Amino acid sequence: MTLPQATKYAIIGAGIHGLSTAFHLAQMLKATGKGSGADILIVDKAAVAAGASGIACGVVRNNYFQPAMRELMAHSVEVWESDPKAYSYHPVGYMQISPECMRADVASIYEQQQAIGYESVFVDGAEASARYMKGLFDDWQAQGITSVLHEKRGGYANNQASMHGLAAKAEAEGVRILPGVEVQSFEFGSNSGAVTALNTNQGRIACETVVVGVGPWVNKIWNLLELPKQITVKANGKVRDDVPMWKFWCLEEGTLGVDPLMHRTNDGRFPPVLHVDTDAPLYSDRDGKLITDKIWGIYYKPDFNFGGVQGGASPYKVDQDPDRVAVDPYGPESPEFVVGEDFIDMWCSALAHCQKRFEGQMPRYKREENSGGLGCFTPDNFPVFDVFRENVYVIADSNHGYKMIGVGKLVAQELVGEKSMLLEPFRFGRFAKGELHPTSHSPFPWS
Ligand SMILES: Cc1cc2nc3c(=O)[nH]c(=O)nc-3n(C[C@H](O)[C@H](O)[C@H](O)COP(=O)(O)OP(=O)(O)OC[C@H]3O[C@@H](n4cnc5c(N)ncnc54)[C@H](O)[C@@H]3O)c2cc1C
Repeated sequence: MTLPQATKYAIIGAGIHGLSTAFHLAQMLKATGKGSGADILIVDKAAVAAGASGIACGVVRNNYFQPAMRELMAHSVEVWESDPKAYSYHPVGYMQISPECMRADVASIYEQQQAIGYESVFVDGAEASARYMKGLFDDWQAQGITSVLHEKRGGYANNQASMHGLAAKAEAEGVRILPGVEVQSFEFGSNSGAVTALNTNQGRIACETVVVGVGPWVNKIWNLLELPKQITVKANGKVRDDVPMWKFWCLEEGTLGVDPLMHRTNDGRFPPVLHVDTDAPLYSDRDGKLITDKIWGIYYKPDFNFGGVQGGASPYKVDQDPDRVAVDPYGPESPEFVVGEDFIDMWCSALAHCQKRFEGQMPRYKREENSGGLGCFTPDNFPVFDVFRENVYVIADSNHGYKMIGVGKLVAQELVGEKSMLLEPFRFGRFAKGELHPTSHSPFPWS
């Protein structure tokens, strides 16, 4: 490998955001006569799809309580739909199945989906919801459900395949992707705060513009950029100056090693991705013990890529100083941040709570495969897409981001000089101004 001494655009991270930005930027540079993919270099300390994008469940949905998130997701779904083959995208749809405390939130999501022309069906009331669900799955038995939102678009994509598809598209545009190159420090200009070069484990690369797409490693790169560890956040009329910029949550996901074909609709089709939240008590399918009587949630889909029915549950907060959290080794390699018996009992019991076909299946859970992984979140749990130090575009998706394949397209648009209204609600300045996104009643930090 020869390390170039300089590049116009240096992108750090070959996950969904780095790759999507590179591919779309290459196309836009060519279209505007401003350059080509040869002006873009992606460096990754490991390889394509080595981070969160390569282990994500891969769910693509619109369902968000926050209007700005919904508009952004609608844009991303269009990008997924633009090349389903290369992106290994399965447009099976998505369902949000909810308890009473979420009914009003989800009804408003439906109304706003209608306003932006995003096709969905809203089923209101306990009886109507049960009828609708039994119409799809005759073994449906989830309790405490009073509404169903059925998004006809969205679905899921296969994590590794979609990243390699995107990488191939970027390389076909002339982008260079260098694995095994870790950014260890930055050089800053003498008369400005701009970054003038990346210092890597393989040598120095001078650059004009930097794009950061490092997923769960963002806290580390943020520190190298000498950006503030604590920030001012205005919320509910109060101003706090000491809010940590980053915090970690651990995502809990796994696979039931059954034939994926056992989870089909009554008419034999592949089902939408199901996301169920309920406040009905959850009892263990193993020994009948009460697991929780608080609101809980799971999501699942049949997936040949994972070899079974794959999905997850609410993540848990990592209660550690972000600088001390061991992000490496990442994902299934981590000795610390993979799922354990509590998750297996909860998730498999929750599947059985929802559909009779999953009763007694817990022994088939794939214990031999580690799963789960860290996500790095902002103070309000929503993304930050903004320019720092004059020439560093940080794409910090607060772990919403596998579905956000369109963000790279919008970032590319901004890099060639055209502001994106869709990205505007995600600027860093919103924290100090108190322009935070509304929060929902969902048990998940990213809904
Ligand atoms: C278990 C799990 C399931 C998820 N499921 C979903 C889902 O279903 N739907 C959804 O929308 N989102 C999901 N997410 C969130 C989503 O995966 C992430 O938000 C998204 O993939 C982040 O993409 P990224 O490009 O920012 O970073 P990543 O994909 O993490 O890529 C970052 C890359 O940066 C590289 N890197 C890091 N530091 C350096 C450095 N110093 N120098 C060079 N390279 C560096 C890494 O090697 C890595 O390859 C999930 C996350 C997890 C953990």
